[in-house]
Amino acid sequence: MPSKSTIGCAIEECQQFLHSIQNIPRIKALFDGVSGGKPKIECRPCSDEGAEGSARAALFNDIPPTLVLCTNRLNVRDLQEAVTHELIHAYDYSNARCNFYECDGLAYTEVRAARESECSKYYPFEFLRNYCIQEHATRSTANLFGNGARDCVKRVFDAANADLHPLPKPTEKDAIHMPDSETSLIGPQLESRTPPK
Ligand SMILES: [Zn+2]
Repeated sequence: MPSKSTIGCAIEECQQFLHSIQNIPRIKALFDGVSGGKPKIECRPCSDEGAEGSARAALFNDIPPTLVLCTNRLNVRDLQEAVTHELIHAYDYSNARCNFYECDGLAYTEVRAARESECSKYYPFEFLRNYCIQEHATRSTANLFGNGARDCVKRVFDAANADLHPLPKPTEKDAIHMPDSETSLIGPQLESRTPPK
């Protein structure tokens, strides 16, 4: 019988997974592109309080950035989605590509992150992907900016969606299967940030 205990993964599984993806071109491009050194990634259970709140993963803006994968909230099949999403943020933040503390800036990186993670599966029509991206980016941006988030996403969508830095061309995309896990996208999915130093 399904129960709450089916959510999550073992720390070892998470670490093995990280090892298995390190040479995937798009993951590597993000890793190498983060300014200030390669991001550290920790696999561990997250607490219910503060920065880790109800997040599935969190990004801490240390130098180099630290990315936490919450093993008590992520299934193995969701790990790649979470890693990719956070690495996009780490790349954008560390290279000061947008201002995370302004609505348009956060919306910009959320559009890019959603495009490469939650909405990266195959879609028969591009407008379906765009819809997915807009919805996810709006939800994530709204965690900090509330009702204004949708307008921010609309304003930056075209530019952000066309911005593929530093990813390899789509034809070189990794072959790892992306799970059909749209339904698992819940609430405030990330993203607690510590203020920049
Ligand atoms: Zn995000």
